[in-house]
Amino acid sequence: MAGMSDLFDAHPYQDRYPVQRGLPEQGRPKAEILAELREMAALENQAWETGQCSGTMYCGDLDHYAFLTEAFGLFAHQNALQRDMCPSATRFEGEIIAMALDLMHANAIEGTEPAGLVTSGGTGSILQAMLSYRDHARATRGITKPNIVKPETAHPAFVKAAHLFGLELRVVPVDPATTLVDPAAMAARIDENTIAIIGSAGNYPYGTIDPIADLSDLALARGVGLHVDGCLGGFILPFGEELGYAVPPFDFRLPGVTSISADTHKYGYGLKGTSSLLFRDKALRNAAYFYVLDWSGGKYFSPGMEGSRSDGLLASAWASLVATGRAGYRAHAQEIFATCAAMVDVVREHPQLRLVGSPTFVFAFTSDDFDIYHVADRMKTRGWRFNGLQYPDGLHLAVTRPQTRDGVVDRFRTDLADAVAYAQEQTGSAESTAIYGGIPGGLTADVSTFIESVMEQIMDAHQSVPAPR
Ligand SMILES: *Cc1c(COP(=O)(O)O)cnc(C)c1O
Repeated sequence: MAGMSDLFDAHPYQDRYPVQRGLPEQGRPKAEILAELREMAALENQAWETGQCSGTMYCGDLDHYAFLTEAFGLFAHQNALQRDMCPSATRFEGEIIAMALDLMHANAIEGTEPAGLVTSGGTGSILQAMLSYRDHARATRGITKPNIVKPETAHPAFVKAAHLFGLELRVVPVDPATTLVDPAAMAARIDENTIAIIGSAGNYPYGTIDPIADLSDLALARGVGLHVDGCLGGFILPFGEELGYAVPPFDFRLPGVTSISADTHKYGYGLKGTSSLLFRDKALRNAAYFYVLDWSGGKYFSPGMEGSRSDGLLASAWASLVATGRAGYRAHAQEIFATCAAMVDVVREHPQLRLVGSPTFVFAFTSDDFDIYHVADRMKTRGWRFNGLQYPDGLHLAVTRPQTRDGVVDRFRTDLADAVAYAQEQTGSAESTAIYGGIPGGLTADVSTFIESVMEQIMDAHQSVPAPR
């Protein structure tokens, strides 16, 4: 989704730098390469350093990035699969898991041994969790036609897991006013083949937190797993709770929660490429373990779907957690929650805008008076980048540290007022609607085929060199 706006220019560098259409015979000078990379990085950092870009740059502190990069560089060439050569990976991975379990109150767990994995990201954690539920349910409950039940708002990674692993996906609609799922509606979709139900803390579209306590009761009553998707909220909500914000419990303190994903590469402020996946019971974690004993290349085992992994990513994720500490995360959370509240107040200044759900560190809004994407169009000309929502059409901003900088909320107030005035004057349809918004008349087969073909072209462009001119 995020990539859709650059549909129109996938190759902005083609006139600035030589296009590599094959492996060069002679290598280029390293200094020249680095100069080119620095130039591109500086250009790309401009897009978010203004604080006007939703999500994505959770940290935005170039000093922190430099520190993480140094930690990464020391171990980047090491393969975490070969622990005899890099016991450092065990220190990093074990301690990342221990720190994340601690944050999720694994100390409240009784009767089972909590455990975890470090994966490649939120999608990696969700895929791995669903695969573990599938294989564990097959082994312990004899389930051969597994299904999972998710609120509509839960991330597409669950759809991907269902697709990849042959799970039936059952989607439960949410209340349009609160954006939350009704536990009774979830209950109605559970049957003897349900391996896990899902709740988000918070979900991506609205940042709202599903009624996890009710889902926990439900999971216990029905004997199914409950995965809490804390990919987005896992490293910020616990600190929001400590600060007194209204954060309902969502972690291992609830006895029905059997696994949690929490991304170190989002509000953990790590480099892109890591996430933690945490289990109430080691037995479910160990269902992710993979063995090939009879291969000519020797006996093989790996703790999850991935093979070789960079020890550098583990080192940098570990370094981010250890350098920030609870006090650091709490201080950043305080600024982020306060900034979100201030931006929400700005939205409330406009009766034409309507907030969707109760904002946390993400806020979402729509309009009953005009096409909200006119607001996005106008804000875009001022350098703002929102994420687009549909059903109903809306915009959201995941508040991150770049927004907490001086002047950003004031710019938001000025630019939003201008954009609302602009939107009120428009009669035609907004430019951004076509890309992000709901389709009038709905997603018919024809419309789906057309949209998928556009998306295919976008992905093709992203995987290619520009056509010669
Ligand atoms: C970002 C996100 C994911 C997926 O994470 P990736 O790191 O993009 O793979 C899953 N769930 C939620 C709620 C998210 O915000």
